[in-house]
Amino acid sequence: MKTVGLLGGMSWESSLFYYKAINEGVKAKLGGLHSAKIAMVSVDFEEIEKLQHAGDWQKLGEILAKEASNIERAGADFLLICTNTMHKVAPQVQNAIDIPLIHIADATAKALIKDGIKKVGLLGTAFTMEQDFYKSRLQEHGLEVLIPNEQERELVHNIIYNELCLGECKVASKEKYLKIINKLAKDGAEGVILGCTEIGMLVNSSDTEIKLYDTTYIHAQSAVDFAC
Ligand code: GLU
Repeated sequence: MKTVGLLGGMSWESSLFYYKAINEGVKAKLGGLHSAKIAMVSVDFEEIEKLQHAGDWQKLGEILAKEASNIERAGADFLLICTNTMHKVAPQVQNAIDIPLIHIADATAKALIKDGIKKVGLLGTAFTMEQDFYKSRLQEHGLEVLIPNEQERELVHNIIYNELCLGECKVASKEKYLKIINKLAKDGAEGVILGCTEIGMLVNSSDTEIKLYDTTYIHAQSAVDFAC
């Protein structure tokens, strides 16, 4: 079994799910008392969030690159960055290490393609929904990506930072998300990517008929497959 490298803490609320899902996945595959071999670094999200909103992606890339190389030195055979947004600096992180990085958008695109989906809605932080680093990666896999309108994007973004990353899941916020998900489906999305690793805390497949793609679960599952 290979050792999984996890670069987490963005936020720790979702890193918990990575840790649990990867261990459960390894147990399901190998049985008995098997559990995942994991080397993990968890950062202080307050520092990260401040730099994100200040637009200092250079500094963010440096921080994550340094932590990624610490994870490599700790014995990881491959790396996961446990957030969609911070894949904006994935190229800097990959440059700093010799082990492979499993890109969250690649893992997600593979799951969508397997289900025959061509047009997909994307929910995430404003960085993920609006900038090119994530959408273009999905488009490279031949997917057409729909995002919510400006007002909806602001709402989705604010709920992530002001509630979900603080561990708060409000019924009113869930209803707002479901409304946006339904609208994306009405606009032609055949499925919706939960493109922020905390959104799965708020909505899941049992809440809607539309197929949801939880990037946390998909990314964690790809780590299990790669490790075993
Ligand atoms: N975890 C979130 C994501 O998947 C947002 C927090 C962050 O900015 O890293 O994008």
